[in-house]
Amino acid sequence: MGEEFDVVVAGAGHNSLLAAAYLAKAGLRCVVLEARSVLGGDTATEELTLPGFLHDSCSTAHNLIQASPTLRGDELGLRDHGLEYIHPDPVAFVPFPDGTSITQWRDVEATYGELARFSKRDADAYRVLLGEYAALAPTYGRYRYTPIGWGPSLDETLLGAPDGRKWARRAAMSAWDVIRDTFEEEHVRAFMCWMAFMTIQPLEQPGTGLNAYSLVYGRQQHSWVVPKGGSAALPLALARVIEAAGGMLRTGERIAELVVENGRCTGVVTERGERVKASRAVLSTIHVKHLVEMAPSDAWGDDFLYSIGSWQAGIGMFVTHYALSAPLEYPGPDGPVSPLASGTPGSVERMLQLEVDVRRGRVSSDDPPLLVLCPTVADPSRAPTGAHTLKVVGFHPYDVPGGPGAWDELAEEVSEANLRQLQRYAPSLTDDKILARSIHSPLDLEQANAHNWHGSCHGGDSGPAQSGALRPAAGWAQHRMPIPGLYQTGATTHPGGSVSGAPGRNAATVLLADLGLRIEDVIESR
Ligand SMILES: Cc1cc2nc3c(=O)[nH]c(=O)nc-3n(C[C@H](O)[C@H](O)[C@H](O)COP(=O)(O)OP(=O)(O)OC[C@H]3O[C@@H](n4cnc5c(N)ncnc54)[C@H](O)[C@@H]3O)c2cc1C
Repeated sequence: MGEEFDVVVAGAGHNSLLAAAYLAKAGLRCVVLEARSVLGGDTATEELTLPGFLHDSCSTAHNLIQASPTLRGDELGLRDHGLEYIHPDPVAFVPFPDGTSITQWRDVEATYGELARFSKRDADAYRVLLGEYAALAPTYGRYRYTPIGWGPSLDETLLGAPDGRKWARRAAMSAWDVIRDTFEEEHVRAFMCWMAFMTIQPLEQPGTGLNAYSLVYGRQQHSWVVPKGGSAALPLALARVIEAAGGMLRTGERIAELVVENGRCTGVVTERGERVKASRAVLSTIHVKHLVEMAPSDAWGDDFLYSIGSWQAGIGMFVTHYALSAPLEYPGPDGPVSPLASGTPGSVERMLQLEVDVRRGRVSSDDPPLLVLCPTVADPSRAPTGAHTLKVVGFHPYDVPGGPGAWDELAEEVSEANLRQLQRYAPSLTDDKILARSIHSPLDLEQANAHNWHGSCHGGDSGPAQSGALRPAAGWAQHRMPIPGLYQTGATTHPGGSVSGAPGRNAATVLLADLGLRIEDVIESR
């Protein structure tokens, strides 16, 4: 018989760690069980190429979490536990096939000047867009950081905001519809499309309209924010908070089963056969597709099983990490530029074609749109002196002709095509500057972290069928699962994927309330 805890936390992504930190500070005895040998899930930082080169295995940008009450009020004391953010300038650099480029600077007027080189009207529209969204951002933020059912719905939130009727329409539109209606010039439109795509939601999908505002606004406000030392600085700081509050973290512990006794979830069984008991609750970031396999089907009910059965993955990501002997450098209008973040949309048409290809299961390496990150230009602590890390990200389906297993054959070729595309824009990145590389297809991303189900990097699609009160399933969006005592957090719950910490904080709020505790008391006790 194993040890008994108040709460067993399944998985150590940043959301479950954040929830565990609130729970532990509320005095609950928590244990976190993580399948991998490292903490953080998609916020892990690992030596993927050579010793001393610290690569963000998945996420690099910590933009969304900047708006969280957790960071804004430093509710968990993460700064005292070593979490520090860097706000690089320029924010992002986007080169185009005709040799021109757009740079987003921290200074709005400097960004205005970049856009005005292409269209003064569009530069004016950019300024208006930022101003309009500034009025909505706090209200929309409250919606994201409130558990479903604990506040107004998204429609009510938008309609209640200043200019609410406009926002209700914009939110229901697609990001591309908003961009096409707001901007007229091709380069500006392509830049805006690339930005709006940065949470990997299809630009033409109805319901993505706010992405045309929120992503560019967030980056204009905070830059392409990265934690000093790597993405893992966040989970590692959270782990310190948990341990300081008496909680326990165990890696290399994959959970295989839920324990259900008298209709209640009372613990988990690990793959090694250990039974870990939870007297109050089990809180999971196990992907919902796997979770339902961990207890008998009659424990879930038909409705829930239908919703999880019909769950759709999102667009997959394809990542190559490089160790470099020199920084990434592009020829800019005023001389060489070495941005932390850059991207190659190609054109609006190419960005829109990407989503069609993914839906059809096509891997197109022709002029691939990329997201490129060179964190060491702003944070040299991530590599040996003078050396750099580079992450080149493409966007592809998980299901390819021949099945996902075909990725093992395709990966080299796709990685090579992405590199050649980048070298076209950054010719100084010659092959001799590449010291080592590590390739991760959508299949590899799933194999590394089971929560990246079918290569979906945000838990699953975030379209209308899997958002708000429907995430992960109608009737079960308040983090309470159909089995009493079992709670769910992470990217498969409201408001979805990305490094936001919102699912974690929202789940902690609900779980604490169910145990007769208040998150406000935890925050005030700080
Ligand atoms: C390549 C890539 C790049 C990305 N870039 C960004 C970015 O720059 N900015 C951004 O905001 N977002 C980015 N994202 C998305 C973002 O990283 C994720 O949506 C987010 O980190 C998910 O956090 P989470 O806490 O919900 O779960 P995860 O981080 O996925 O953690 C879940 C954890 O649960 C563990 N687990 C799963 N099953 C079990 C089990 N049975 N037993 C025990 N443990 C288990 C996993 O090992 C994992 O550690 C990226 C994602 C990918 C894949």
